[in-house]
Amino acid sequence: MKIYGLFLMFMVSCTAQVKLSPEEMVSKVLKEAPLIDGHNDLLIHYIWCQSCPRELDAYPLDTITDGHIDIPRLRRGGVGALLTNIFGRGKEMIEYLQGWDLIYRIEEKYPNDFQVAVTSSEVKETMKNGKIAIIPSMEHTYELIDDLGRLRTLYRLGLRSVILAYNNNNIADGAFDEPIHDGLSEYGKELVLEMNRLGIMIDLSHITEKGMLDVLEITRAPVIFSHANARTLTDTERNASDQVLLKLKENGGLIMLTPVNYFTTQEAHDYFLVKLDSIKKVFQQKYPDPYQMSKEEIEKADAEWDTWEAANPMPKVTVKDFADHFDYVKNLIGVDHIGIGSDFDGMSYLIEGIEDASTFPNILLELVNRGWTESELKKVTQENFLRVFEAVEKKAGELQKIEQPGIAKVTFDKDGK
Ligand SMILES: [Zn+2]
Repeated sequence: MKIYGLFLMFMVSCTAQVKLSPEEMVSKVLKEAPLIDGHNDLLIHYIWCQSCPRELDAYPLDTITDGHIDIPRLRRGGVGALLTNIFGRGKEMIEYLQGWDLIYRIEEKYPNDFQVAVTSSEVKETMKNGKIAIIPSMEHTYELIDDLGRLRTLYRLGLRSVILAYNNNNIADGAFDEPIHDGLSEYGKELVLEMNRLGIMIDLSHITEKGMLDVLEITRAPVIFSHANARTLTDTERNASDQVLLKLKENGGLIMLTPVNYFTTQEAHDYFLVKLDSIKKVFQQKYPDPYQMSKEEIEKADAEWDTWEAANPMPKVTVKDFADHFDYVKNLIGVDHIGIGSDFDGMSYLIEGIEDASTFPNILLELVNRGWTESELKKVTQENFLRVFEAVEKKAGELQKIEQPGIAKVTFDKDGK
């Protein structure tokens, strides 16, 4: 028996030393630490398409969709959780609630695959049970204007992460707007403090650099960027500068790097601005309101658009370009502050090799080839996010013992003016 036991031990130690191929390492990582994706716009397919609004049956998720996300491809991509952007057709609360209805109905319709999870332990439990956790998030703050009671009500519904403005001004200045608040508005400051008290993650994507720095100055809990890249590599207000990243490290927060091609290389970004100009000058004049257009007009506009695109091809952006952001941020602030936020279903310009949810392994594969270790990859796929989520919950628990609910109100309109 003794000899047999020794033989077994020898076998085990031999097995432990077998070096995994990059592909094997990636599948091991995703099996043991499924990916928590920082941002997706799945609801767009029910709310913002040509035939929308439409029912869940009109866009089933258990077969391959024409979007970036569905159950088969999330499974293939090793996805364990999705911070899912909840939004409605307009800026009013009543419209916003339709998004919440959809998210809970998706959970009901696919009980073996999705579960809304609103605490870090629920997220872990959901993944352990082999399901994909939906963590409700918000990518604007129109519905939070008025008073802080709205935030508390949405927290009770399950809201756990908020982007303080979309590209335009809101309670903070938006990244692509003329600043009016000099960063974060006074009401925005109250909102940040109340989010700390409730245990809602603050998301710095989409606001100006001044806004990011304002939040980092006052927040009592770690913050996230759910989808943004390093500004030194691609200079746009949507990405995080070195100064912001260094403060993020001090804050204990997280940047979930995003495979949106125009936030990944300067060439693609500059092209995108030219393209936007073209849309503004030619298409918007010709077709001012796509929702008022007939089917024939839409087909005509699409054809014109295709011709323009064929004559002005987008610069190619590869997984290697994207991986450069991982290396850069790791060198600057360390691996403990990096995650992945795809922006799937919310962006049209993809990176070659990262075309949908099934292709997440390609990112990890490139990182393995650059020398990233198994434990570093697990931090990126889920551990860093869970650490931040837990810290946000812990801080909220402490604050609730010593602070009363905030009572701030605001007078500016939904566009933050
Ligand atoms: Zn976004």
